[in-house]
Amino acid sequence: MACTEGLPEDAKPAWRARRNWLLGLTRAMLLTLPQRLVAQTDDAQPVMQTLTVGGGQLDLQFAPGFDARLRTEAIAWTRRSADAVVGYFGRFPVARVQLLMAPTEGSGVRGGVTYGEPELLVRVRVGRDTTRAQFLDDWIMVHEMIHLAIPRIPRSQNWLHEGLATYVESVARGRAGLVAPATVWREWAKAMPQGQPQAGDAGLDHTPTWGRTYWGGAMFCLFADVQMLTRSARRAGLQQALQGVLAAGGDYGVSWPVDRILATADAAVGQTTLTELYQRLKDSPEPAALDALWRDLGVAGNTLNDNAPLAAVRRAILS
Ligand SMILES: [Zn+2]
Repeated sequence: MACTEGLPEDAKPAWRARRNWLLGLTRAMLLTLPQRLVAQTDDAQPVMQTLTVGGGQLDLQFAPGFDARLRTEAIAWTRRSADAVVGYFGRFPVARVQLLMAPTEGSGVRGGVTYGEPELLVRVRVGRDTTRAQFLDDWIMVHEMIHLAIPRIPRSQNWLHEGLATYVESVARGRAGLVAPATVWREWAKAMPQGQPQAGDAGLDHTPTWGRTYWGGAMFCLFADVQMLTRSARRAGLQQALQGVLAAGGDYGVSWPVDRILATADAAVGQTTLTELYQRLKDSPEPAALDALWRDLGVAGNTLNDNAPLAAVRRAILS
């Protein structure tokens, strides 16, 4: 996956300096230029736009290099992504966030990074030739916005953040109608085995490989979601648990230990599922029983089997 999150400290100052330059330029422009010139802002100058979605204020800053077509598409993409996140969490995860759009060569959304300090900030790189279809197909913006809904955690446990963002992104986009449920299940069945422990694995907290971080984390979320929905007779799952974390003030603006995030999430649904699963997998290379899970959920290639024992749980996840 192209997303990176929680870059080392030394990767931040260069961007921050550039960002301050961008903000400074924008302010200077607004203060000194006659109004008609501001209105005619061309591609060579930064453009700012504010969206309000689900109670959150999204301050978009387009770096120089976005033409009017690309800005219009990017604004629609941002709103659509935010709507999907609001659909899952019940509101936009934070009261205010800055979204920096940086243009790059080529087409497609090329990666995103979310920062919690000194203020909430998401930066995405967007190819200048990105088409409407590519924006519609993009997962990165939703993924980054989901990071905003979870407290920051120690870097060694990044698998939980990336796992949640990876898993919930598909659920949120599936429920919003941006991707078909059958496609989500097919892609998960194909991708999740990449999260299985390999030789030398020492458990999720001690194996920061790409596969274990993104897909090991996503598998943790899927197994927890299935367990929570089963135990609650489908009344509450990971969605309600994570809404409980947000309601308790746990968003990307704060740092919490993993134990606190999981205990808060568990308490919101009156279970101990997440804490139990974490205790079992944090120091252990135990492989996940994926084949049995797909069989129980009724996922078989392009076919979804509604007679499978957990078919109702499968439908509850994406409906
Ligand atoms: Zn991420």
